[in-house]
Amino acid sequence: MFDDRRSCLLTARLLAALAMPAALFAQDSARAPDPIAQLVGRLELERYKATIKGLTAFGDRRQGTDRNRAAVDWIEAQLRSYGCSDVSRLKYDYQPPSPPSPAGRGGQGVRPASGGGRYRGIRARTGVNSDSLKQPDARIRALDAQASTAGAREEVYCTKIGTTHPEEMYIVGAHMDGIGWGEAANDDGSGTALVMELARVLCSPDVRTDRSIRFALWNNEETGLNGARAYVEQRRALQGTKQEPKWLGMIQHDMLLFDHGMPRADGTLAATQRPEADVNIEFQTSSKFAAQAQQLAWVFQVANEKYATDYPASVGSHMTNTDSAPFQDLVPAISLRENERGTQIGAGWDPNWHQPTDVYTTYHDPDFRLGLNAAQTTLAALAGLTGATLK
Ligand SMILES: [Zn+2]
Repeated sequence: MFDDRRSCLLTARLLAALAMPAALFAQDSARAPDPIAQLVGRLELERYKATIKGLTAFGDRRQGTDRNRAAVDWIEAQLRSYGCSDVSRLKYDYQPPSPPSPAGRGGQGVRPASGGGRYRGIRARTGVNSDSLKQPDARIRALDAQASTAGAREEVYCTKIGTTHPEEMYIVGAHMDGIGWGEAANDDGSGTALVMELARVLCSPDVRTDRSIRFALWNNEETGLNGARAYVEQRRALQGTKQEPKWLGMIQHDMLLFDHGMPRADGTLAATQRPEADVNIEFQTSSKFAAQAQQLAWVFQVANEKYATDYPASVGSHMTNTDSAPFQDLVPAISLRENERGTQIGAGWDPNWHQPTDVYTTYHDPDFRLGLNAAQTTLAALAGLTGATLK
């Protein structure tokens, strides 16, 4: 039998256990405007699109090339122009394994999907394009022509310093490198632009947060998360010192534009964003911090419900193949994507993934708007978690 009083009590207990930021549940007040809504209002579709477009000027931004280094410089210049503090570079060395890892991820066998999920329904082919001639646009072909060379690598990050607890921070990431002879517009221009837009909004001088937020644009994701791994190796032991605030959580953003549904029986996909498109928030159920990561995922889902304008969010338990993985046994870690990575992207739901078609002109406003809704979700959740207010 339904007991209203009891269910209220249970809800209260659940929320306490999840440590939901109270701000996410604040009632509308005639006196004080909601600062989270005001911050979310500073995200704009046209600005988000322009930042993705800016990244595509550097082609696929493949790691170990001049175009990748030029993109890191450009990202750094943008972060500085937003007024972010402590714009820094992490330096590491990358030597590709020999023989190189085989192209393509997520094979067609009966084994479980990457990350532990279960495939359902129709699957289409996936893989990495390595044939320059499959890029029909001569300008992009030329832009992507230089091959990668092994050696020194750099990636950029910056920080919004908290006012009352500067010694604690959330890390918000996306990878700026790509592959496939396109422009890496979606993978991962969409995530990189999201993190940059959040840095722009949150580093604004009239925004104050209790806790710190680090914005990280990882390099070498496509070779096996090497940039994020280098960060973890170099900086995890520094936590709690002046050089590195204590990590509270890691939130990764990877491929956020394209949710056109399951492939049809002939392997083709719908031409337009499906009206049921959603943002997929994933944690990894086998990670050491699975329980806390799940709590974090629900904070993001609640933030989406309250503040995202167009698309809902779903929570899943199979986060995989992304830069939050090196963090998942050290802190609560989640990722935001257009689809579940294992069972959906791995089953061919994004035909542009690592293909020459991952170019800016492939996408339309309903696609870009899904990425913007992911940005609204993370901005609102982070603002709640870090106690953001406007001066
Ligand atoms: Zn990616």
